[in-house]
Amino acid sequence: MNLLGIDFEDWFHPELIQRHITTKNNKPTVVDGIDKILDWLRKNDTYATFFMVGELLESKPDLLDKILGNDHEIAFHTMYHTRLDTPNYKERFAEEIKRFADLTKGRSCGFRAPSFSLNQFTSWVIDTLVENNYRYDSSVVPVKTRLYGLANADTKPYKISSDSLKHNDPDGKILEFPLLTTTILGKKIPAGGGFYLRMLPLKILRAAIKNCSSDGSPSTFYIHSWELTPEFMPKVQLPFVDSFITYHNLGKAFQKMDRIIKEFKFTSFERFLSQKT
Ligand SMILES: [Zn+2]
Repeated sequence: MNLLGIDFEDWFHPELIQRHITTKNNKPTVVDGIDKILDWLRKNDTYATFFMVGELLESKPDLLDKILGNDHEIAFHTMYHTRLDTPNYKERFAEEIKRFADLTKGRSCGFRAPSFSLNQFTSWVIDTLVENNYRYDSSVVPVKTRLYGLANADTKPYKISSDSLKHNDPDGKILEFPLLTTTILGKKIPAGGGFYLRMLPLKILRAAIKNCSSDGSPSTFYIHSWELTPEFMPKVQLPFVDSFITYHNLGKAFQKMDRIIKEFKFTSFERFLSQKT
């Protein structure tokens, strides 16, 4: 069994876009793709966890009813897709997680840091998750890349704490689901979604999932709402590298993820946890 998290955000939320636009008064458009995503999951008999940017629930409250009404789960991806290492964000985060609980009627018990910005400087977030009765986190990419990642972190689910971000802490209260990685020519790289899902051949993704599941561990995947519904994603002019990372093969992500969930069984995080405990 593998884990599917949909990072539900709009066209103006990805970090490499946020850097180049004003963040005020942007009209959400990707939210209109929700029905296509729900139909796709239904047809494939698959449940997913929606890591939601909270402000979208404020502008479109029916998103929550649609997601929960189809037996999927809601999880927290901050209110505005803010990196955790943004100055003075700790106090704001503590307010945002409570606001998100109000918006979701207390249904969220999972978190993913925007841009995987969980690191030694932002480990406070794990304590805040514990204080708010969260059960799991999925913010660790266990390899260092240019943009994110924690080198040499465990690749299988483990108990995380603010003192032990990379390895199991027997006293940890939050279960960490690290994103899938693989090794190519001796080099470890992410393989659990985003740019790498769009770039890597299916053959390599398949092998990574099989390798991970050889001892019964789940492969943890993420895909952005805007990768599943690129027709709702207006393209912003960006510098070449940022544009490449954000938009490369964007038209192929849905098809690829579709192949993967047809070949391997995926489910949502809470469903997975309830089977395990
Ligand atoms: Zn995100």
